[in-house]
Amino acid sequence: MSTRKLVIGNWKMTGTRARVRSFADTVCPVLPELERCEAVVCVPFPLLSIAQAAWKATALRLGAQDCSGAPEGPSTGDVSADMIAECGTRHVIVGHSERRAGHRESDGEVAAKARRVLDAGMTPIACIGETAEQRDENRTEAVLRQQVLQLARVLKRDMGSVILAYEPLWAIGSGDSAAVAMIEEVHEFIERVITFHGVQDAAVMRTVYGGSVHPRNAASILARERVGGVLVGGASQRADDFLEICKAAARCAAESLP
Ligand code: PEP
Repeated sequence: MSTRKLVIGNWKMTGTRARVRSFADTVCPVLPELERCEAVVCVPFPLLSIAQAAWKATALRLGAQDCSGAPEGPSTGDVSADMIAECGTRHVIVGHSERRAGHRESDGEVAAKARRVLDAGMTPIACIGETAEQRDENRTEAVLRQQVLQLARVLKRDMGSVILAYEPLWAIGSGDSAAVAMIEEVHEFIERVITFHGVQDAAVMRTVYGGSVHPRNAASILARERVGGVLVGGASQRADDFLEICKAAARCAAESLP
């Protein structure tokens, strides 16, 4: 288990060059004081290069929001993992529910993308999660098991290098996160799947929660030992809110030290 907590921002399809710079002005001077927080922000493709230039000498890490599952070739409009890595990117989100739903990405395609990200020397942030309907039908565990095991089948021992992001679809963008007890229960379930199927040493895997995390609820989620961090969408688009969540992460990580 890491002694640091991760805060991953996802700007989704928002952001400008001006925001890249003003974000750095607000967040970067404070990050060195937050030793126990690792901060990553995943920006849209056109902002990768400018963010790399603006953030490169700082503790703020750069991430992308997707990549192709193919290495290169006739895939007009797609962007390969190697191209993303060339922009100084260290993390790539794969399988975000907005892509699974909007672009019909299967678990197999998500796993192929994670493989490309690893092969390009970056860390995949693989999103998993159930819909409201699946939860109502008591299928949450079956859905999560299938998503985790499909990744493990493709990545094998490299699974330990993946950050798993548990994002219940019904919590994303709703304003209300899942209840803390439920978040912890699901993290425990994911650990059991990883251990039972011999995927990895569960202590090696980093699992974060995402879905309507904001400065008011971040500390209660991050205080849970099993929760390795948070994936933040809407609130990460505001530098002050993102920074508040980073401060909560650093505090919670320090408080959980033995
Ligand atoms: C996300 O985009 O992954 C997300 C969790 O969004 P939000 O924080 O806005 O719910």
